[in-house]
Amino acid sequence: MLVYSLVSEVQAFVSSVRHENKTVGFIPTMGALHRGHLSLVNKSVIENDFTIVSIFVNPTQFNDPKDLESYPRDFEADSKLLENIGCDLVFKPTVSEMYPEKDTRKFTFDGIEKRMEGEHRPGHFNGVAQIVSKLFDAVPANNAYFGLKDFQQLAIIKHLVRQLKLNINIVPCDIVREENGLAMSSRNERLNDSTRSEAGIIYSTLLEVKNRKSDSSIQQLKKFVSEAFYANKKFEIEYFEIVNSNTLLPVVNKGGIEVVACIAVWADNVRLIDNIVFNF
Ligand code: AMP
Repeated sequence: MLVYSLVSEVQAFVSSVRHENKTVGFIPTMGALHRGHLSLVNKSVIENDFTIVSIFVNPTQFNDPKDLESYPRDFEADSKLLENIGCDLVFKPTVSEMYPEKDTRKFTFDGIEKRMEGEHRPGHFNGVAQIVSKLFDAVPANNAYFGLKDFQQLAIIKHLVRQLKLNINIVPCDIVREENGLAMSSRNERLNDSTRSEAGIIYSTLLEVKNRKSDSSIQQLKKFVSEAFYANKKFEIEYFEIVNSNTLLPVVNKGGIEVVACIAVWADNVRLIDNIVFNF
């Protein structure tokens, strides 16, 4: 497996393989890899001739400096996992390689960037758009793989691709979960054991929302969720929203459309997000 840290090196690699009409799949990550990330890599290995994974903890998408500092990093372990599942190249740039000068670009995405994650993490999606546009320039792949775990991020990236008229296919990938249903996340490592096992409540609550959808209004579903978490003092809801899966605007009435119920929860000073898609 190749490991490159320069944009010019990875660009030259992609251009040479695409010149031979081979396809390239790309998975941007921030490292601390788990089975969720690896499912994206697996899909790419199956669907492409070459698979490239980037590992870069992007400072511009962190609105909380403490979160950036404590973000888990373990390149040795990550590269072993990647090599074992057939990744061809890891792109691991430094901050100065990706940001030789301050990136002052401001992105907007029809207001999608202002709601939910955008509202609670100001500047987060602007940082995501900055780094993903730079990574797509460094790795002009055929296909790029993103997890549905970050549903709003996926919507932003699809917008970004349209806005910048990039010739890259965005492939959404299912959420991979721990045994108790907790969506896998690098941040789960920061939970203590008992909170981690109890955090299955996040997904079980979302599943129950889906079960109750036929007999409940939006208000009743919201009340159900706040009561489910109120009973357990370890968890604090930051937001729970049911939004149109295309526009990400809040759904007011049922209308047979695809919606996504999105939640952000604090536990042990760790912020966890999850979602579930259903027709409503
Ligand atoms: P991150 O390293 O957290 O930036 O995530 C890199 C990619 O992996 C993003 O596209 C995430 O949505 C995706 N991802 C993270 N966790 C999961 C998961 N549990 N299931 C599926 N994809 C995930």
